[in-house]
Amino acid sequence: MGRDVEVAVVGAGQAGLSAAHHLGRLGVGFVVLDAEERAGGAWQHRWPSLTLARTHHVHDLPGLPFPPAGDDVPAAEAVPAYFADYERHFALPVVRPVRVRAVRRTPDGRFRVETTAGAWTADAVVNATGTWTRPFVPRHPGQELFRGRQLTPPDYRGAAEFAGQSVVVVGGGASAVQLLGEIAEVADTTWVTRRPPVWREEPFGPEEGRAAVALVADAVREGRPPSSVVGVTGLVVTPWVREARARGVLDRLPVFDRLTPDGVAWDDGRSVRADAVLWATGFRAALGHLAPLRLRGPGGGIRMAGTQVAGEPRVHLVGYGPSASTVGANRAGREAAVALHRLLRAGAPLPRSA
Ligand SMILES: Cc1cc2nc3c(=O)[nH]c(=O)nc-3n(C[C@H](O)[C@H](O)[C@H](O)COP(=O)(O)OP(=O)(O)OC[C@H]3O[C@@H](n4cnc5c(N)ncnc54)[C@H](O)[C@@H]3O)c2cc1C
Repeated sequence: MGRDVEVAVVGAGQAGLSAAHHLGRLGVGFVVLDAEERAGGAWQHRWPSLTLARTHHVHDLPGLPFPPAGDDVPAAEAVPAYFADYERHFALPVVRPVRVRAVRRTPDGRFRVETTAGAWTADAVVNATGTWTRPFVPRHPGQELFRGRQLTPPDYRGAAEFAGQSVVVVGGGASAVQLLGEIAEVADTTWVTRRPPVWREEPFGPEEGRAAVALVADAVREGRPPSSVVGVTGLVVTPWVREARARGVLDRLPVFDRLTPDGVAWDDGRSVRADAVLWATGFRAALGHLAPLRLRGPGGGIRMAGTQVAGEPRVHLVGYGPSASTVGANRAGREAAVALHRLLRAGAPLPRSA
């Protein structure tokens, strides 16, 4: 495999593999550079209790269906096995473990992709690095004073390690609710969220999905940093949620004003002792390696036109903003591949779709 390619795809999660599939189908020369030791993208690192039944549904990658697997199988096993098959089946040129450190423009109008395993040059870049490596923890006074454990969802391995403890869970998203539910089985929990959670009693259909994605798409089109798609969909009321509400597990408090050595405290005099604070406060896009390209606007976001960075048709972000879901990642991979095929092979006829 050469080090000079038409397209460098960075990341081999759902978004990167979808882009790779379509680039291959269109006959574009590419390489996929992935930081992991093995196939599976971020799924290989999800906590073991996240079974397939507890996901919101992992969509098939294009061209090869997800093989049937039991509902109780951890997503961290089933999805990586499927991705590994997928890479083999389509003979995708994935090179790992390769972490991209920086992407720079070259004087001849191409890109130099600098990695832990040397450099590649490319005409275009499809960035598919997800968010898992960048859990976001908001700043709160006293954070450095707290003597207990502070962790984020990527650190979570199961509720057992919190047995008998007092745990504060921060965050109003799906991960916070799921982890709270597990930990509350074995520990005293306190749930704090910035805003009151929005519960969704009715089933979440495709129309609501499209509306939620459109909100995030508006943000990135206008150059604002994207919120998570789930953040705008609300929290689905499952039978577990109903039962947990009845037990008082989901009685939420506003976020504390500060951390103390022994827990958290509010200005009105309330305090809660805590052994651990779990920050389930979202993720940010892992884009540090693109900093030399200066894609960010004054508001800190990147203005997007579909999957393409506005004004930079040779850089696409997939799995970013509105496409940060498995179905969104599939579509974004295709969109980026088709656009780059058009750009790099101006005038070439498009093959029929897969
Ligand atoms: C807990 C949780 C549950 C979820 N459940 C669902 C669900 O049920 N259904 C759904 O549709 N979506 C779900 N999502 C979202 C979904 O997982 C992702 O949006 C989707 O898998 C797309 O992933 P991706 O390809 O963008 O990123 P990832 O799967 O994160 O893959 C990114 C890849 O890029 C690599 N990488 C990162 N930085 C570099 C670098 N500098 N150089 C080289 N490689 C790099 C990473 O190692 C990784 O292999 C969930 C997300 C979370 C956090």
